[in-house]
Amino acid sequence: MAATGGVPVLILREGTRREQGRGAQANNIAAARAIADAVRSSLGPRGMDKMLVSSLGDVTVTNDGFKILKEVDVDHPAAKMIVEVAKAQDQECGDGTTSAVLLSGELLRKAEDLIEQQVHPTIIVAGYRQAAAMAQEILDVKKQKVRLEDRDTLIRIAETSMGTKAVTVHRRFLADIAYRAVKAVVQERETGWYVDDDDIQVVKKPGGDATDTELVDGIVLDKERVHAGMPARIEGARIALLNAALEIKKTEVGAEIRIRDPAQMQAFLREEENILRRYVDSITAAGANVVLCQKGIDDVAQHFLAKKGIYAVRRAKESDMKKLAKATGARIVSDIRELARGDLGAAREVYERRIGNDKMTFVTGCRNPHAVSIVLRGGTEHVVDEMDRSLEDAISVVALAAEDGEYVYGGGAIQMELALGLRERAASVGGREQLAIEAFANALEAIPRTLAENAGMDPIDALIALRRDHNEGKHAVGVDPFQMKPADMERLGVVEPARIPKQTIASATDAAVMVLRIDDVIAAKGPKPAEKGRGPEGMPPSGEFE
Ligand code: ADP
Ligand code: MG
Repeated sequence: MAATGGVPVLILREGTRREQGRGAQANNIAAARAIADAVRSSLGPRGMDKMLVSSLGDVTVTNDGFKILKEVDVDHPAAKMIVEVAKAQDQECGDGTTSAVLLSGELLRKAEDLIEQQVHPTIIVAGYRQAAAMAQEILDVKKQKVRLEDRDTLIRIAETSMGTKAVTVHRRFLADIAYRAVKAVVQERETGWYVDDDDIQVVKKPGGDATDTELVDGIVLDKERVHAGMPARIEGARIALLNAALEIKKTEVGAEIRIRDPAQMQAFLREEENILRRYVDSITAAGANVVLCQKGIDDVAQHFLAKKGIYAVRRAKESDMKKLAKATGARIVSDIRELARGDLGAAREVYERRIGNDKMTFVTGCRNPHAVSIVLRGGTEHVVDEMDRSLEDAISVVALAAEDGEYVYGGGAIQMELALGLRERAASVGGREQLAIEAFANALEAIPRTLAENAGMDPIDALIALRRDHNEGKHAVGVDPFQMKPADMERLGVVEPARIPKQTIASATDAAVMVLRIDDVIAAKGPKPAEKGRGPEGMPPSGEFE
């Protein structure tokens, strides 16, 4: 409200809520910190799990920071910004989400202290930005080099990432699979090594033992061949991908055909058969011996295909069809009559194999060798789901380390080094910005401190010991949550891609700065938007239907 000559001038519509200055800031900071506090206890290998219960009653047990925040319905706008941090971190690295959220919360907590000491938010923002840039420089000096052939280090990177998840048994086994998968799909580009995550497909099959999990060179479909009379194995596969039904279309409206004599009936059926036969003829004419169809395949068509020795699958998922197209070089054809030799893809072998109680189709030795699948086995659906999440994390971290060729020591060791370096540099900056840089250094130490706390150690003692070690140049010392004391992370093999702390710092700083710069919250009145994230009537937002 502004006032001219004592008459208030309304510039906002009546009913608009507005909060300004210190109050708005404090409120935002509190909300953002609340989010950080929600995930704090899940950090590290001894972090606790969270049980998430959806509105439909589905239960997920996880300690994946992003997963937790994704499922929780957050309402406060500043808190939403922090959830965005987790999202950005997940997209960029696939790991380090808890750390990023924790760090942004800690940056805001320290900022609050500075504001109390009359440091203006603008100075804090400038100091944080400067500190973040300095931290990246220090990190570039401290990071270690790794090559794709360095199997041991890369497996340790995968193991470190998986060690923080519920699935800790068979870790080495799965880490090895993640390493082999990345090694199989990594490609050299002008810019260096590159891993396309889409090249690695994970197929979940609950049941069996985790050690039954296997890496397959190619694509695996959770589908059996449609007819027992078809060959169960085709060598030198020439694959047709069809997005069309091998069926006679049913009329949209209920049509009725009156047949008066048996001959007419015969002719009618024969005509149906002829259409299907012509479909199959175009498939054989194109030279295909495997048909992977996104739609249905009629019994009669199945019979014809079987007679021609063709292996066929029906109702393949759209996402699988796309992967198959990329892997085999086939073109997805939607008019069977147009199928031509050039549309076919190639694979060394297509075969059916029993996994657990189901039969699956394996397409191996694809034309594009950068396509592998992991058939994930073990325990119940919940176990396999959590295994899947940790395997995905393991794949991302190995890919990041392989792409960048850089890693750092975990357990908070790298954050201790960065804090030390920042404090040294802060002195030369001077003034109030120095305070902000020092605050940034302290915020970084929240990672080792929280790791210690979650392990049941005294966080203050742990931090004092770590500071001493790092001052003495022991750069790889971090928190060992199992022995409950500081330890050499190089010796323990607790290592992570350099990009994780880099991205953690970048996204946490962005979020903290964004929240700090706000001193005015103007909320329009009006109806709250309808339930987000869900389609009508409790339908999932998207997804594939078999
Ligand atoms: P985030 O979502 O940030 O990845 P995590 O729960 O995975 O959170 O914890 C990651 C942190 O735990 C990292 O700082 C990492 O260095 C540390 N960490 C992982 N494994 C170990 C270990 N065995 N010993 C000490 N620290 C570990
Ligand atoms: Mg992690």
